[in-house]
Amino acid sequence: MMDVLVRQKPDTTHVWGTNVWAPALIMLVFVVSGFSRTASAQSSDLDPRIAKLVASISEARLEKILKKLESFETRSTLSSTTSSTRGIGAAREWILQEMRSYSPKLQVSFDVHQVPKQGRITRDVELRNVMAILPGRSPRRVYVSGHYDTVARPGGQGATNAGGPARDPDAAPPPPADPDAPLDNLAPGVNDDGSGTALTIELARVFSQSGIDFEATLVFMCHAGEEQGLVGARLHAQKAVAEHVPIEAIFNNDIVGNDKGGNGIVDGATIRVYSEGPEDSPSRELARFIQRWGGRYVPSHRVRPMARPDRFGRGGDHSAYNQLGFTAVGFRESRENFTRQHDVRDTFEGISLPYLAQNARVNAASAATLALAPPPPGVLSERGQPLITRAPSGYDANLRWNASPGAAAYRIFWREAWGPDWEHELLVGNVTDVVLPNMQIDDYIFGVAAIDAQGHESFVTAYVAPPRANTAVRTGQ
Ligand SMILES: [Zn+2]
Repeated sequence: MMDVLVRQKPDTTHVWGTNVWAPALIMLVFVVSGFSRTASAQSSDLDPRIAKLVASISEARLEKILKKLESFETRSTLSSTTSSTRGIGAAREWILQEMRSYSPKLQVSFDVHQVPKQGRITRDVELRNVMAILPGRSPRRVYVSGHYDTVARPGGQGATNAGGPARDPDAAPPPPADPDAPLDNLAPGVNDDGSGTALTIELARVFSQSGIDFEATLVFMCHAGEEQGLVGARLHAQKAVAEHVPIEAIFNNDIVGNDKGGNGIVDGATIRVYSEGPEDSPSRELARFIQRWGGRYVPSHRVRPMARPDRFGRGGDHSAYNQLGFTAVGFRESRENFTRQHDVRDTFEGISLPYLAQNARVNAASAATLALAPPPPGVLSERGQPLITRAPSGYDANLRWNASPGAAAYRIFWREAWGPDWEHELLVGNVTDVVLPNMQIDDYIFGVAAIDAQGHESFVTAYVAPPRANTAVRTGQ
């Protein structure tokens, strides 16, 4: 961990030097902070237990899960639930029992919802998300998710994409001959989203068997109904709002197992992470956090944050959580093969196990770091204003924040007010304010993260001015 350099005055505000020496001290600050790109690895920050957890992800396990999921032939939310070997009923029962077998610490259950016919749900169904909870010391929750339901229709996603401008790939399929009959056509969905499901199930195993006592409660969630409009995720998110469940972050994985684009371009070394804006929203900060910590534990895999909610015309379960105010991001493979998606060709052959395992490692490293860290600090006053001023001189950056439970230190981040990535960072002690002399708050974006005694870091909370309401001006008659 970086050395802490905090000059404390007898008063309660921690000022970096005096006005006379401010220029020199700011230079010192920049030297201490390394003036560095924040993504640079500092191996001393890494927790060997997390490194071990990441290393325990198994390609052989992922393969076994994917082949099992494929064996159900369809996992459509509208498919049969009576067979023990085929359809979504058999699939969800297997996922439940599989996760139950990993550890007595995992609390595995169905998250059941009765969904009457509506939209693309063409008949009344009982929808079941499969949920595994690994309780932490705190009720705050970190989710890793995928959707285990599938869909296939004539032409698949390839025909949709080749047909002109981007459009909703989940647009209603032709109505079934008998809407009340189960939709049992072949829909293997090994990549969409067997890959995200297998990743989620494998992380349930390695986290629950790690022996690590996490601060946050981890939830490994396999959603259903995604292909009918994010239905399982929406129902779970709605319930979480109603029951005030403190969900801190959702890592959603959907189509993360193939590294060869339908155009022949191969990229097995990057993963895209989509997040809704605006630019310093909590979801964007979560994406930056994944880039930072995934990148440190898995330097061979590049995280590419994408400053948009998702791909053109495409959707995923993270958006269902975003729309109800939760912090959530969507992991997407580097190069998609649209001819396999929503098609009978979405089979195991289209999977790269080494690539899926790398994406699982990035998820694991960042989710474990977040679940061991204190919660991100609050930076708003009771009136909802950011706790940033120009005091005491009128030309300084004066940052305050609310103490985060369990924090032993905080890290300040800043960057030019034009630009996506944090450029500078500074570790400060267990304080709740800091003054950076002569730094004009209008020229930089500032943020703060909470760190525990072992160096586990939260994602950043940025100081953002709330939007101003329009004031209409009356005009004369
Ligand atoms: Zn999907």
